[in-house]
Amino acid sequence: MNMPKTRQLRLVLGDQLTRGLASLTDLDPAQDVVLMVEVAAEAQYVPHHKQKIAFLLSAMRHFAETLRAEGITVDYVPLDDPANSHSFGGELARAVARHAPSGIVLTEPGEWRVWQMMQGWAEALSLPVEIRADDRFFCTRGDFATLTKARKTGRMEFFYREMRRRTGILMQGQVPQGGQWNFDADNRKPLPRGLRPPARVRFAPDAITRSVLDLVATRFGHHFGDLEPFGWAVTRDAALQALDHFIATCLPRFGDYQDAMKAGEDFLFHSLISPYLNCGLLTAREVCARAEAAFQAGAVPINAAEGFIRQILGWREFVRGIYWTEMPAYAQSNHLNAQRDLPGFYWTGDTPMRCMAECIGTTRRTAYAHHIQRLMITGNFALLAGVAPAQIEDWYLAVYADAFEWVELPNVHGMVMHADGGRLGSKPYAASGAYINRMSDYCTGCAFDPKQKLGARACPFNYLYWNFLIENEATLARNPRMALPYRTLAKMPADQRQAIIHASAQFLAGQAGWSPPAQLRLNDGW
Ligand SMILES: Cc1cc2nc3c(=O)[nH]c(=O)nc-3n(C[C@H](O)[C@H](O)[C@H](O)COP(=O)(O)OP(=O)(O)OC[C@H]3O[C@@H](n4cnc5c(N)ncnc54)[C@H](O)[C@@H]3O)c2cc1C
Ligand code: SF4
Repeated sequence: MNMPKTRQLRLVLGDQLTRGLASLTDLDPAQDVVLMVEVAAEAQYVPHHKQKIAFLLSAMRHFAETLRAEGITVDYVPLDDPANSHSFGGELARAVARHAPSGIVLTEPGEWRVWQMMQGWAEALSLPVEIRADDRFFCTRGDFATLTKARKTGRMEFFYREMRRRTGILMQGQVPQGGQWNFDADNRKPLPRGLRPPARVRFAPDAITRSVLDLVATRFGHHFGDLEPFGWAVTRDAALQALDHFIATCLPRFGDYQDAMKAGEDFLFHSLISPYLNCGLLTAREVCARAEAAFQAGAVPINAAEGFIRQILGWREFVRGIYWTEMPAYAQSNHLNAQRDLPGFYWTGDTPMRCMAECIGTTRRTAYAHHIQRLMITGNFALLAGVAPAQIEDWYLAVYADAFEWVELPNVHGMVMHADGGRLGSKPYAASGAYINRMSDYCTGCAFDPKQKLGARACPFNYLYWNFLIENEATLARNPRMALPYRTLAKMPADQRQAIIHASAQFLAGQAGWSPPAQLRLNDGW
């Protein structure tokens, strides 16, 4: 005889909006209750972009509706419920009182901070709490740790090859499709004049999204970024539509122009799916499968399919593995001892450096910037300027719709700031104005000249680049991958070195320090 099942409470977090989530697969609609809560603390621990908050709240509300349509009981606590305690622990305790469950079932969270919180719930609630592994990733946290021990994941490239072998994606037996693991060398073309990227599908807000937009305008109107126009997909169906449109219209050229930048073109040939992947509307497996199918059908060249799949199967999984194996110490390191304040123009875009103004402008308007803008413009500047890692990390966490700490932190702390001493990348991605001039059209019409090294019109990236090498000589000069620039630096006359140091000090002193405009400060008071 089957024992009657007892009621379980299934907590679903805002980045767990996947029907196949580990903690939802065996849900019993006759007994179990899904709990979803909108917690103010999560919306304001950094001044998140208004579109990011609206996207997540609307996607959560739509997900709850989808579950209800299946006959599942969803206990949904909205942000403006007067009884909302605005903490996960507080809301769980209230829900336990309402539903008297025999236990709580969860899927592991994306953030170490929330993971820590969860460890105390069983004792605090006097109930069994089952935390299941998040199997939406190709590599579990345990798997990654094992691979690290076996020294198979020291560098992303080797980890990625291992993941290709394990999954069989873009493989012919043991051999990579196209005869190479990586086609990155083909993927560094600037955008040719006259090539216009296709318009992107955007989604008109429905009634649920409209009410969320009103809520965000009222409660978070002082946060960073424009709230409207709002065109993000907030349902799985719409996210799938956006994915299909990307694969049909952009993926064929994704590889070629992956590193290109162009003023006025916010998206180029990028997929714009990171918010959907990170909150669970799409899964990494289905995205890779669709890209691979387009390649197998002959619609997409190998450099595009491989380049795109590497970002998801390689980078996305790798940074997650680093995050979970290295936290919490990871966030504390500061290998280059960078201490400067984040310039205020990161929040306003008010700077004569056109590349920075363009990227920050895109970010304000869309809650999006593509990878090279993040890495080689706003990231590169923060690295060269020696900004304190925690300050630039807070900025990235706040301003992008896809920003969750597990993916943001390794990208900023490791890839951009080299604050982890090279755990993520073997050298800092430092570059002068010449790189930006080659890969973009930003320098045309800029107040500065990328060809001038010193003087009033010299591109700040030029002297800041050499100043960065000088300031970090003791730490970086022995890095074999930095040998070339350090050989050039060694030949530099002493007076030129001094002039670089002086120009950099003057320029950096002239940038407003970290002072988030008053309206961005985190004293919402509600
Ligand atoms: C400083 C910095 C901060 C970043 N912060 C985030 C973040 O908070 N959240 C986030 O999802 N990505 C982050 N990234 C990675 C990457 O820039 C974004 O994933 C990408 O720009 C999202 O746009 P897209 O969907 O159009 O990506 P595409 O260029 O179309 O790439 C496809 C997918 O690959 C994945 N991907 C690509 N590069 C990376 C990477 N380096 N790490 C992890 N996944 C990757 C994303 O899921 C992305 O959707 C950051 C990168 C840098 C350099
Ligand atoms: S000249 Fe320098 S500051 Fe101006 S857009 Fe080019 S790289 Fe940026």
